[in-house]
Order: sequence, then C-alpha cells, then structure tokens
Amino acid sequence: MKAFFIGTAACVPGAGEEVASFLINDNILVDTGWCNVLKLKDYGLAPEKIEYLILTHLHQDHYLGLPQFLFYLGIGQLTGSYKQNKPLTIIGPSEKLLYILKKTEEFLQLDHYPELIVKINPYILVPGKNYEDDKILLETIPAKHHSGGRMEDALICKLTDKTESRTLCFTGDTSYHPPIADFVRGMPVLIHDSCHTSATDAANIAKTANVGKLYLIHHPSADNDKKLREAKEVFSNSFISESGKSIEV
Ligand SMILES: [Zn+2]
Ligand SMILES: [Zn+2]
Repeated sequence: MKAFFIGTAACVPGAGEEVASFLINDNILVDTGWCNVLKLKDYGLAPEKIEYLILTHLHQDHYLGLPQFLFYLGIGQLTGSYKQNKPLTIIGPSEKLLYILKKTEEFLQLDHYPELIVKINPYILVPGKNYEDDKILLETIPAKHHSGGRMEDALICKLTDKTESRTLCFTGDTSYHPPIADFVRGMPVLIHDSCHTSATDAANIAKTANVGKLYLIHHPSADNDKKLREAKEVFSNSFISESGKSIEV
C-alpha cells in the first residue's frame, strides 16, 4: 500500500504548492486541494484511475478541486480517455456533501452539457461510522475541528485496502484530540494534521499510540524544520510529508 503526497500545504498554498491531499494506491484520493487534477498530471499520475474520493471534511480548501476533477473526467468521457466502469464513490462526513455536489453540478452547467456527466455514488459517512465494500474498509472517529466558532463534521480515518490487508491512518483537520491515540494504536503509519495541532501534540499522539511512523501535514512549508524538530523531541520516527513523494505502508 502506498500514499503519494499531492500537496502538503496549509489552507492557502504558496507558489507551486498544493493543499494537503494524497493519493492512495492510484485509486483513492483523499481531499482535492485547490486543483489536484492538474497536480496529478504534473506528477505523471492518472486521475482516470481514481475510484474513490474521500473528503475528510467540507472546508473549501479540501474540496475546491472537485469541479476541476469532475470536468476533467467528463471531458475524458467525450474524448475516450476515461471509461467509467462503475460510479465514482465520493465519501463525505455530512449532508453538506450533497449540497456541494449539487452546486458543483450547477457550476459545471451539467443540465446544459449532459454529455459531461460523470456517474457519482455519494456516501455520507457520519464520523464514528464505517464504510465498507469489496475493496476497502474505512473506519472513522469524529475529529475535533472548528473554525469561526463552528464545529465541523470531520473524519479521522483508518483505511484498509482489502486486497493487500494494509491499513493507513490519517487525521484530516483536527485540533489535539487524545482519542486518536486509541483509534490508531499500533498502526504502521499515521498522517497527522500539524496546522490545527502542534507538532509536539501530534507526536504525543504517535508516541502514545505506538505507531510506526508519523507524517506531519498541512502546515506552512516555511515551518518544516521547526515542526520536525519539535516532533522528533517527542517521537523520533517523525517525518514531514513531502509533495511529490510516496510513502509505503
Ligand atoms: Zn478544515
Ligand atoms: Zn484544512
């Protein structure tokens, strides 16, 4: 099982950067960043292979790339570069997912251009519930994530690829949230938000959970050295997520 970091940046990416998002095993996209589809092309990867999109939560920087992604696939259908065998499963943590999908459809004017419609299987995964099909098992607990005084429905995820029996854990956006440690206990890799949680606290979670490796993500790249130093003081197997690089699980 591998995860490829498409972007690692905070909410507003710098020049040439992309917001925290990654591709698991070529077919599972976790968040869309601002414009993941073009980033994937830059890296020589094929957005056509994506079968699942997991939106950890519905803050704009995590789904802004959705219209571009769906437009890309729609055009691909017309030109023959994309053949859809089954609907694209899009998982999100609340009813807001349906609202965003509807708005995306309107934004792309799909009522005027029905030839661009891509079949979608929307799945509302309430934080704390699981999603399972023949290929993947996605276990979740609620994150502790708020902005502007509002709590946000957000997923902390443990994703198992059933074909390989390997499991990757990632937090999406969350403040320091000790229950994460129990949830990811003994897992090989944890990708943890280091924007809303300090590097020290993320490392505390990794240490308490006794995970194999910790990857910090979603902080400004200017903070890389400082974040890594802070994390390593607590948990020596800490790393900074790097755009354009894969990790093995
Ligand atoms: Zn957020
Ligand atoms: Zn975020």
